[in-house]
Amino acid sequence: MQTGAGPVTPVVQAAEIRRALADFDFAAPRPLDAVLAWTIEQLTRGLVHVTNPRYFGLFNPAPSFPAQCADRISAVFNPQLATATTSPAAVEIEAHVIRAVASQAGFGPRATGHFTNGGSEANYTALICALTRAHPEFAEKGSRAFSGAPMLYVSRDSHLAWFKLAHQAGIGRAAVQMIATDGRGRMDVGNLAAAITADRAAGAVPVMIAATAGTTNAGMIDPLPGCAELAQRERLWFHVDAAWGGAVMASPRHRHLLGGLEQADSATIDAHKWFATTMGCGMFLTQVPGILSQAFHAAADFMPSNEAGRDPYVTTLQWSRRFLGLRLFLALAVGGWPAYAVHVERAIALSRLIHRRLTERGWTIVNASPLAVLCAVPPQGSCVVPTLVRRVVGSGRIWIATTRFEGRDTARICVTHGESTEREVDELVAALADAARA
Ligand SMILES: *Cc1c(COP(=O)(O)O)cnc(C)c1O
Repeated sequence: MQTGAGPVTPVVQAAEIRRALADFDFAAPRPLDAVLAWTIEQLTRGLVHVTNPRYFGLFNPAPSFPAQCADRISAVFNPQLATATTSPAAVEIEAHVIRAVASQAGFGPRATGHFTNGGSEANYTALICALTRAHPEFAEKGSRAFSGAPMLYVSRDSHLAWFKLAHQAGIGRAAVQMIATDGRGRMDVGNLAAAITADRAAGAVPVMIAATAGTTNAGMIDPLPGCAELAQRERLWFHVDAAWGGAVMASPRHRHLLGGLEQADSATIDAHKWFATTMGCGMFLTQVPGILSQAFHAAADFMPSNEAGRDPYVTTLQWSRRFLGLRLFLALAVGGWPAYAVHVERAIALSRLIHRRLTERGWTIVNASPLAVLCAVPPQGSCVVPTLVRRVVGSGRIWIATTRFEGRDTARICVTHGESTEREVDELVAALADAARA
């Protein structure tokens, strides 16, 4: 099993795994022990190990132990969360966690929401809610209800799944207006206001502003109060995509960074990122009463109940549902918000340590994120960034990514693992220095 001592990167390629899979023609049974051992061996050799403390990568966490327990418990009981009639205990546990997170986000007492498979599903839910509120006939007629093309506004550094979501929603990829950033990776509110005015003048129908609180490339936070004010003035849905950054709500020291979130109509927060649950666990929160049942109502004779506000299948995208929320319930119940405060503060502190170590050695950190992502540029005379990152990752010692920030190639370093320490930081800095020099 993965212990943290081995390489972070896969040591086998897909072709080799495919060849090994050719033995499985499923014609005859095999002993479970042998198949489990085979599977664990493949995963040990054939994955980027996000559970290794030398993974400084995308927002994938090393999952907490309570979250892992939740997966096992859900698997044993296998509850069906489509209705509260079938699974009252599971539905109530999820609803309780959603209320707690919404309250911690500064949402009012009537806020609702639900667990999703991830941030993309939550963002898609926001888009459907925004369109549903924007026109009373959207539910029946789709985008044909609008007098012009419906538009949504995100920054150039937002999560670009927005294009897929607009495509799915039937408003088309061209509905996504990418607003320029301010030179520091945040939505430029002046540009945003100008784009909305220009679109209205051209006959389009602005529907939603989606600000990002913690951009994926650089951990930057769009000016939430400015976006909120503009959305209110223009009567647009205001969504905050805090898929990763939302977890700083746990920290009394850092939660002010999310100021303005409390004014949002809706928010996306992933549990499977900085809240360190297992994969496939996001949240959608909204303060707009009734919108979820307007957007997702459905009826079927065979369902045991049909009650908005109680039965998830009539207020969410999914129908059959897995018991996702138990992961965050157990983690919060065991550690409380204080444990998450320690977790995010520790990641931010470690990120600042990396910042110091690198700048001492002549590197430049080009993003000023208050969170735990660094976009680093090596000293003059080093190899180009894509080569550098390829060498670092190729060494198997450390995993980092490349990203572009304000027009520059940078090495993206993010503290995601709750147990990375100064020792792993030393290894990271050494690996970066080796790769830049070589
Ligand atoms: C990760 C991320 C998403 C997508 O979430 P998934 O959980 O991967 O579906 C959306 N927005 C932001 C800002 C993200 O970081």
